[in-house]
Amino acid sequence: MIVRNLQLVRDRITSACEAAGRKPAGVHLLAVSKKFGPEAVIEAIDCGQRAFGENYITEGVEKILALQAWQAAQSEPLDAPLEWHCIGPVQSNKTRLVAGHFDWVQSVDRLKIAQRLSEQRPPHLPPLQVCLQVNLDGGANKSGVAPDELPALVQAVAGLPRLRLRGLMTIPEPAIDFEAACAVHARSRALFNQINGAGLLSIPMDTLSMGMTADLEAAIASGSTMVRVGTAIFGDRS
Ligand SMILES: *Cc1c(COP(=O)(O)O)cnc(C)c1O
Repeated sequence: MIVRNLQLVRDRITSACEAAGRKPAGVHLLAVSKKFGPEAVIEAIDCGQRAFGENYITEGVEKILALQAWQAAQSEPLDAPLEWHCIGPVQSNKTRLVAGHFDWVQSVDRLKIAQRLSEQRPPHLPPLQVCLQVNLDGGANKSGVAPDELPALVQAVAGLPRLRLRGLMTIPEPAIDFEAACAVHARSRALFNQINGAGLLSIPMDTLSMGMTADLEAAIASGSTMVRVGTAIFGDRS
């Protein structure tokens, strides 16, 4: 099932890129494996998937460790390493787990959390790759930094020694149709371009993480470089 689902998602990405006049290599697929066990991840690995996203930190770390044990028991190493992305809310008491086990965290929206992640990133690991989560709809109880506070956070995070700022991540409210979804994603793209053009960063951001199962075509049409897909790959999470 996962093998067929993954192929369908890859086909959707390719078609969306063709429709937008973009190269498929410019859109990365993050397989969101939250609420599914290591067996499901292994099935996706067998189909060539390497990047996985987890929302819940304790669950994610358990899975990362299970997959490390699984890899150690294989006769041959994988052709490319697994890449684990934390995409859920990070509280202060979980930063050490994130810094110690994940490769990326896409859900940073406060300087305090970024500082802790940088301080706690173990010296034997490469810098933690970071996206800042932006709240574009203005929902008061939603995670994400407000657009007007973004430039200051970008500058502060870019200066932290053990983090590498890669880009922005957004989770917009579900849109009613393709045009509405494109309009929201286009605002994220404009903000991304604006930050990159503002001369704040010595290394420009290269990642705009937006688009999920329901709206990946609209996200790709609007310039997403990474879609995060759970349901269409692993099935319903109930
Ligand atoms: C669950 C989740 C996804 C995947 O959503 P689907 O609709 O299942 O594709 C993507 N991003 C984030 C932040 C999520 O929490």
